[in-house]
Amino acid sequence: MSSHRLFESTPACAEGLDADDRLARFRDLFFVPTDSSGSEQVYFCGNSLGLQPRTAVDSVKEVLEDWRQFAVAGHLEGRHPWLPYHEFLADQLAELVGALPLEVVAMNTLTVNLHLMMVSFYRPSSDRNRILIEKHAFPSDRYAVESQIRFHGFDPEDALVELSAREGEHCLRLEDVAETIDRLGNTLALAVLPGVQYYTGQYLDPAELTPLIHAVGAAAGYDLAHATGNLPVGLHDSGADFAVWCSYKYMNAGPGAIAGCFVHERHARDETLPRFAGWWGHDKHTRFLMDPGFQVMSGAEGWQLSNPSIFAAAPLLASLQIFHDAGIDRLRDKSLKLTGFLEFLLRERLAGQIEILTPSQPEQRGCQLSLKVRDPRHAGKQLHRRLEEAGCISDWREPDVIRVAPVPLYNCFRDVWAFVDTLADLLGPSA
Ligand SMILES: *Cc1c(COP(=O)(O)O)cnc(C)c1O
Repeated sequence: MSSHRLFESTPACAEGLDADDRLARFRDLFFVPTDSSGSEQVYFCGNSLGLQPRTAVDSVKEVLEDWRQFAVAGHLEGRHPWLPYHEFLADQLAELVGALPLEVVAMNTLTVNLHLMMVSFYRPSSDRNRILIEKHAFPSDRYAVESQIRFHGFDPEDALVELSAREGEHCLRLEDVAETIDRLGNTLALAVLPGVQYYTGQYLDPAELTPLIHAVGAAAGYDLAHATGNLPVGLHDSGADFAVWCSYKYMNAGPGAIAGCFVHERHARDETLPRFAGWWGHDKHTRFLMDPGFQVMSGAEGWQLSNPSIFAAAPLLASLQIFHDAGIDRLRDKSLKLTGFLEFLLRERLAGQIEILTPSQPEQRGCQLSLKVRDPRHAGKQLHRRLEEAGCISDWREPDVIRVAPVPLYNCFRDVWAFVDTLADLLGPSA
């Protein structure tokens, strides 16, 4: 994409891009928060908590009403009966992450799913017990991985291996990842890697990583918290063994929403995999016979434990319909432009004042850019607060990074203009 022909550093350019945006109407399906004067905020925080779809209200209300009207019969007679509620999510969830419906299930929360997946796919031996993660892995992932290593009687000091960026760089290089995996060879049991890295916004494609991990005989798992709903991921074709994600970030399903889990088809009928079982993973045809013998269901559903939290699933049902209508490929096209425009304006107007940690190649990132302010007078949490006071909601990560995520479903090009304009005002002329 030649950004120089597409973009100009003017508000008229932003308006023109909005006028040409065929997905612009999707913004109206969301509640955009307003400031005290009633004007809409520039909400660039969908990487942390996505906005509320207007239809989520109806979806939750439906559950409340069915419960009131049908009580226990709602399990079978609700408008979306609760017994198979997770099944209503599977097709669109599969479509969104490039999987077969059999390979995905909405259940639990992300960290819980990561543990369940490691129970099945981290099966260390005295020779092969290492887990590869990135140095700046999300803390919850690190705690989960370390505790699994200890649970199996190994020492994270030795068994936990970290990938880090080169000195002076922020992002990982694929060749370094490949070299590390190769070096670990048959001591590597599992790699747990991000789709989109939460801090830098770098995208690591499971389709590129998985063959490297499989080549040394290890299992490949992904945390797609910042990838799902952000860009197409093609999970089935990637060959990944498993993936997990939450649904309150780009998936717009609300705080604590029911999370997602992918298990590749080749494991779908493998009853020899160890797993932690619960009745919702039992064959649904005989579940209510309440017999003692556990008969596991095929596919990702077989990892379910409890009957799902319907209230945490209802907003996801609404949200997935919106993704289906917009199409993740079309959203990605818009996202490339939206984030491209943001990058263009930052370079045009704030070159020298802002460092962008995120890769500059669009195919190596999602919608988020991670910014570092160079001027030490501004490089503090205070700038982030002043942005917020000016109606620009972004997200702060210690020690000095502002993460900015223009989301193609509900952000517009005028948002991008307003954000950079506000930031330029706050920073003033470069010293
Ligand atoms: C947001 C996020 C989580 C959150 O985990 P929960 O179990 O949903 O609290 C975990 N990992 C990554 C990489 C995240 O970005």
